[in-house]
Amino acid sequence: MQTKLFIGGAFVNGEGADEEILNPATGALITKIPSASKGQIDAAVASATKAFLTWGRTTPGERSGLLLKLADRIEAEAESFARLESLNCGKPYLSVLEDEIPAVVDCFRFFAGAARCMSGSAAGEYIAGYTSMIRRDPVGVIASIAPWNYPLMMAAWKIAPALAAGNVVVLKPSEQTPLTALKLAEIMGDIFPEGVWNLVLGRGESVGAPLVSHPGVHMTSITGDIATGRKVLEAATGTLKRTHLELGGKAPVIVFDDADIDEVVEGVRTFGYYNAGQDCTAACRIYAGAKVYDKLAADLTSAVSTIKLGGPDDEASELGPVISERQRERVSGFVDRARALKHVEVTTGGKAGAGKGFFYEPTVIVGALQSDEIVQREVFGPVVSITRFTDPEDAVTWANDSPYGLASSVWTKDIGRGMATAARLQYGCTWVNTHFMLANEMPHGGMKSSGYGKDLSAYALEDYSVVRHVMVKL
Ligand code: NAD
Repeated sequence: MQTKLFIGGAFVNGEGADEEILNPATGALITKIPSASKGQIDAAVASATKAFLTWGRTTPGERSGLLLKLADRIEAEAESFARLESLNCGKPYLSVLEDEIPAVVDCFRFFAGAARCMSGSAAGEYIAGYTSMIRRDPVGVIASIAPWNYPLMMAAWKIAPALAAGNVVVLKPSEQTPLTALKLAEIMGDIFPEGVWNLVLGRGESVGAPLVSHPGVHMTSITGDIATGRKVLEAATGTLKRTHLELGGKAPVIVFDDADIDEVVEGVRTFGYYNAGQDCTAACRIYAGAKVYDKLAADLTSAVSTIKLGGPDDEASELGPVISERQRERVSGFVDRARALKHVEVTTGGKAGAGKGFFYEPTVIVGALQSDEIVQREVFGPVVSITRFTDPEDAVTWANDSPYGLASSVWTKDIGRGMATAARLQYGCTWVNTHFMLANEMPHGGMKSSGYGKDLSAYALEDYSVVRHVMVKL
């Protein structure tokens, strides 16, 4: 297993503290990996700075060619990437192989193409005798900080648009899930020029914080918790860096009385629990119309009770463990505090799974009220709450009554009502009669405390580039 940092085109042993990497499905130690020292963070930024002088001037066609090679290599080695990701995160192997790796490959292919198609305003004479034109140029050195829930995919979402736009990158994956990034380094080293992409490992405080406040970094892109986003923003004030924040979510799911309840149940059974609910768009906060509330609560409870919990190599497994014992305690704390409320009933799940791994049973919480913690705060685990509404206005008001603003969905047979409701929701994404679906061509990102900046789509290329004005005297 590759355990070295990748700095200036070379593999180097970390000089910082060792980080234990655990298998969430068994609790066993996989390996110990040394973190980056302060000097190694400086070296990574210095190597990126040097590489930018040439990489920043390559043509879109040249960058595109290398990104396509990268996509091909990941596709060719899909099985070993999927094995590492499922080992490190406890995810069902087949889900990683069939869902995540193809999306990662497509992300690199999309940005390889998009880099060659960036459009801009026409040049023209806005002052007589002078021609003005707009350029889009790279920002420079990007610090990319990734979370643990989809380690390779989140890395791809950051690396692909940044490199496509001509930037250079220093990536820091989550200290808990570095294995696929370490493997990626082997491939990146074969394909990209020295220093264009660098990998440093370690914790947020000891490695992430010095990286994002480094004066040589021009932009920080982070996917993580709101509290972490705030720290990154504070660190950015020192050198006035550009920031790109993809933070948490608490997705409302509005189910009107005319919705197809079987479809809602099937949708939430998948989209509320995928990746053990550790997904910032998880369909976790249902508001159900009074006429369908009882049926939805009963049918969802029985559907969720059939979700098969299991280890990564069990082909029948639909749901793996959560990432750590700490995360499981956090999830169980939310459920226990909800259960203590008189009006709430935990109708299925609500406890840890068997074995030594960090399993938590898929859980449905019925009878939650808008003011309850379980409705207000991100659990980031396999837990879905249901709240009844009688006035549809309340459903929209409650859905928007949240500091989060990432994803939402509306379920109704009346497409007009679906569209009208979508227009009023203060979320970066609203799905109608589905949830969770992402396309590399479409932007993904939040509003309010869920952050700003877009991942995926041509909008991400805009975020990773700077609009400049060049004027020529005729
Ligand atoms: P986290 O905030 O704990 O960590 C995210 C990353 O930030 C890690 O690499 C961590 O080491 C680093 N970090 C921590 N403190 C830092 C600091 N002071 N300076 C620089 N880096 C620092 O988040 P997590 O627990 O890894 O991931 C879960 C969170 O991510 C959830 O809140 C989830 O909603 C969010 N998330 C959001 C999206 C999205 O697209 N909006 C996608 C996935 C996950």
